[in-house]
Amino acid sequence: MSDIACKKRDDYLEWPEYFMAVAFLSAQRSKDPSSQVGACIENPENKIVGIGYNGMPNGYSDDLLPWRRTAENKMDTKYPYVCHAELNAIMNKNSADAKGCSMYVALFPCNECAKLIIQAGIKEVIFMSDKYHESEETTAARLMFKLAGVTFRKFTPKYSKIVIDFDSINSRPCQKLKRKSVSSTSLSPQKTAPLL
Ligand SMILES: [Zn+2]
Repeated sequence: MSDIACKKRDDYLEWPEYFMAVAFLSAQRSKDPSSQVGACIENPENKIVGIGYNGMPNGYSDDLLPWRRTAENKMDTKYPYVCHAELNAIMNKNSADAKGCSMYVALFPCNECAKLIIQAGIKEVIFMSDKYHESEETTAARLMFKLAGVTFRKFTPKYSKIVIDFDSINSRPCQKLKRKSVSSTSLSPQKTAPLL
């Protein structure tokens, strides 16, 4: 085997970047004009068991309730209605439960999501931003996490951007897999085939 065929890629996405990127990609599904948050739950075997983003509850049009942040009456804002990413990730999980799992989430959870995370048995929260650190909701969330033994830490990405390029599947050089030679004594050039 040649060196090219034997050497694995060393610029692949590592698990933490992968999970946080899935959370951020999921956030792009959100229709909230002011805040797009995604969450990704994975189990101790590095398998994703739930993904979610903030949005209106299922069963009715996204256009029937307000998306605004401020109004004289709180009922005219999005806040009483929107389901947060953490809630949706937990409710969408494809496993029996989320006990012992970790959650990657773009924004530090609010107190309501902290309750859900604790009750779901999630043991670790990895967040990207803590921009509402001083708020009552976030303060209450931290307090409950500490009391319940849920650890939390800020994510430090290795890259500031991960680009998804749909054209890359056609433009990058294919990895080559060398076919076995027909005969060990053959002098004809060895053929290569794309690794599919
Ligand atoms: Zn929340």
